[in-house]
Amino acid sequence: MATAGKVIKCRAAVAWEPTAPLKMEEIEVAPPQEGEIRIKVVATGVCHTDLYHLFEGKDKRGFPSVLGHEGAGVVESVGPGVTDFKPGDKVIPLFLSQCGECKFCKSPKTNLCDRNWSSKYYDIMSDPITRFTCRGRPILQFMGTSTFSEYTVINQIAVGKIDDDAPLDRVCLLSCGISTGYGAAVNTAGVTPGSVCAVFGLGAVGLAAVMGCKNAGASRIFAVDINEEKFEKAKVFGATEFLNPKAYNKPISEVLAEMTNGGVDFSLECVGNTEVMRTALESCVKGWGVSVLVGWTDVKDFSARPIQLISGKTWKGSLFGGFKSKDSVPNLVCDYMSGKIKLDEFITHKMSLEQVNDAVNLMKTGQCIRCILNISK
Ligand code: NAD
Ligand code: ZN
Repeated sequence: MATAGKVIKCRAAVAWEPTAPLKMEEIEVAPPQEGEIRIKVVATGVCHTDLYHLFEGKDKRGFPSVLGHEGAGVVESVGPGVTDFKPGDKVIPLFLSQCGECKFCKSPKTNLCDRNWSSKYYDIMSDPITRFTCRGRPILQFMGTSTFSEYTVINQIAVGKIDDDAPLDRVCLLSCGISTGYGAAVNTAGVTPGSVCAVFGLGAVGLAAVMGCKNAGASRIFAVDINEEKFEKAKVFGATEFLNPKAYNKPISEVLAEMTNGGVDFSLECVGNTEVMRTALESCVKGWGVSVLVGWTDVKDFSARPIQLISGKTWKGSLFGGFKSKDSVPNLVCDYMSGKIKLDEFITHKMSLEQVNDAVNLMKTGQCIRCILNISK
């Protein structure tokens, strides 16, 4: 590799400050250090968490930054001590690492890895250490990944090696949204055959949760969204009933309770809104209902009446669908290639990296499920 060991200058979309449009820049990407891998990004999705950082979280310390965390690419070069990867390998960057050695990685109870950026820096959504510079300034690597760039450098504990035949412009979706929603249903909620489920928010994360409920054998799947244009897609993934909370003059939890004789067995919040989180909990049946928080937000506290939990409901959260990232993503790629899970159906738009602001706007205005940015060939 002619570029190995050298700084690479390449194109990236830089978020210089909150709420401002991303700007195409030439950045410098340092060579990988001990245990690190430099990746040529081929394709990336745009996820709501990118928008969250830009528009909703707004913590100034998280800027300037290169957003994007739903990518796939090819190894360009590896740093000292990397033996499991070689140039040319197809890989998926992981916003959640799996070091395999911390007490969390060693426990089957969780997929959280203590060495992940989120252990210490979830408020700024990146590790302060970065391999990017632009115009003489360090540029943060959002969620440890930064896929809105032609090249990125990631520690090997946060890279998954995938099948050589995997189509990168589709399996990139497995590095965030689809694994997250799907796993929240099959792992975290533990949806059971014959159960009744409700999914709140029908973006890619929510639709993947619908797919998880269906694959787990749910008998009824309520798809809930304030944007009725999402219902058609939800049907494709297995939803059986469709509700717009705005179309009722009583809380949607009451509507669901009436339709299900007391509430659903499993509910999943895939919006990132504390009011919806409460509603999802209230929509569960007493005694055994389980509600899972999947949407990402850290700007407000949530609240609920204690009786909701005293009456036997369980309220829990899910990061990356509960999947141990390095172990699971290669298997999920195989599940897609063998037809067990869908990916193509989530893709509504394809664009170039230069059009990233258009892609962000499509999501902001609810006009897309996933827009894939083709970064390089
Ligand atoms: P998206 O913007 O594509 O989808 C959100 C959906 O919620 C939209 O269809 C919108 O119409 C709907 N919605 C908005 N307000 C609503 C309301 N009051 N009631 C019902 N529906 C409502 O977003 P996405 O990419 O699918 O991401 C969804 C959430 O998941 C975001 O908060 C994102 O940050 C989060 N996320 C979490 C993780 C994790 O590991 N926990 C990973 C990825 C994404
Ligand atoms: Zn995401």
